[in-house]
Amino acid sequence: MKILVIEDEQRAAEYLRQGLTESGYVVDVALNGTDGLHAAVTGDHDLVILDVMLPGVDGFAVLSALRTARQIPVLMLTARGQTNDKVRGFDLGADDYLVKPFQFPELLARVRALLKRGKTTVTDLVQRVADLEVDPIRHRAVRAG
Ligand code: CA
Repeated sequence: MKILVIEDEQRAAEYLRQGLTESGYVVDVALNGTDGLHAAVTGDHDLVILDVMLPGVDGFAVLSALRTARQIPVLMLTARGQTNDKVRGFDLGADDYLVKPFQFPELLARVRALLKRGKTTVTDLVQRVADLEVDPIRHRAVRAG
């Protein structure tokens, strides 16, 4: 799984890169919005971690431009207490939100959840109870085959 981190603060970016790499992800880092957007649109990442506070093209602008180009899970990062940022992020199509400073395990849990959601296929949606299968996509229920 490949993750793109868009974060201008070197130390924060390096912290994310190191932690995610140690968790088994392949990580690319972009240190500004312009490079980040380019990488997100042209790359083959499975998830984008996007800081709101970026110089020049900020996180909202990146998200908004990215959403018109590609559907890819986006986890946004922002400073504490910016509820408006949170709402704006969701309005623009962010998939999840994390407030800085955060605990790395929480970030990791959210990353895993987003990647899992992105991979959900039709067969994952079939519900099984004993010998009964209910398929909400095909509107079909089958007992014992
Ligand atoms: Ca930043």
